[in-house]
Amino acid sequence: MSSILRIALQKSGRLSEDSYQLFKECGIRFDYGTGKLKSVSSNFPAEFLFLRDDDIPGYVEDGVADLGIVGENVAVESARNIDTVHRLGFSKCRLSLAIPRGNEWNGIQDLSGKNIATSYPLILGNYLREQNISADIHVISGSVEIAPGIGLAEAICDIVSSGSTLLSNGLKEVEVIFRSEAILIARPTLETEKQSLLDKLLFRIKAVQAAKNNKYIVLNAPNAALDQIKSLLPGMKSPTVTPLATEGWSSVHSVINENDFWENIEAIRSAGAQGILVIPIEKMIY
Ligand code: ATP
Ligand code: MG
Repeated sequence: MSSILRIALQKSGRLSEDSYQLFKECGIRFDYGTGKLKSVSSNFPAEFLFLRDDDIPGYVEDGVADLGIVGENVAVESARNIDTVHRLGFSKCRLSLAIPRGNEWNGIQDLSGKNIATSYPLILGNYLREQNISADIHVISGSVEIAPGIGLAEAICDIVSSGSTLLSNGLKEVEVIFRSEAILIARPTLETEKQSLLDKLLFRIKAVQAAKNNKYIVLNAPNAALDQIKSLLPGMKSPTVTPLATEGWSSVHSVINENDFWENIEAIRSAGAQGILVIPIEKMIY
């Protein structure tokens, strides 16, 4: 029997939509959101399992699933024997220490001998050890932010993205201890056939990510400005330059990194470029 990859995804939560979207953009079709716990892809040798995110690292370690998508926070805290095969760039958040808003903060030493409530005892414990702080860690599985208000702890360590939950519970963020994003995890030793399916999947994921980070740019430029514009738009190999019907002008086509775009666009315009079009790229293969 030819092999198929079993991929564990969060059933419904902050990782789900972007995980489903990623496979869609990789051209891998499967049904989700139907209430079923698994679904076989109609066009790629993969079966998807829909689970609570906390269970995913364990299922991957045990071999129930070959791959999974989880937050790095959950992967690290699980202490399972799993490999991070790729960083996915979504579900970004941070694990932070927070204290009641009215309290003074002079630094991490303020937590010495205090109680800290968290669902991340391992990550927090490691951090405190690195900082040479001894404090009591109280493990609670949810609603950590109410702990100071009910006298359970003097501080908390929890996931923060915008900080609005902290604010509404009268807390302030004082220290970031861990930064997280969604990651693709795998069992450390995959059979040869499964490894080659994973390689195919990674090839597609990288093409999708590269496309997201780059834009196709088309512009018109006077021929005298071409050398300068070409140096600002190196593209994948070099830009395409074709003559316009108007004498002395050319059309330049290239690819530009999203991060460089706003930096370079002024220089490109000052060099004499006109009619600049910036177009999204769907897939990009180097
Ligand atoms: P489940 O029901 O599957 O156990 P959950 O409630 O434990 O879900 P979610 O709140 O859906 O988990 O968060 C899943 C992951 O998304 C977190 O472990 C973290 O990596 C990331 N995350 C959490 N909060 C945010 C946020 N506000 N913005 C972006 N990413 C976040
Ligand atoms: Mg969970």
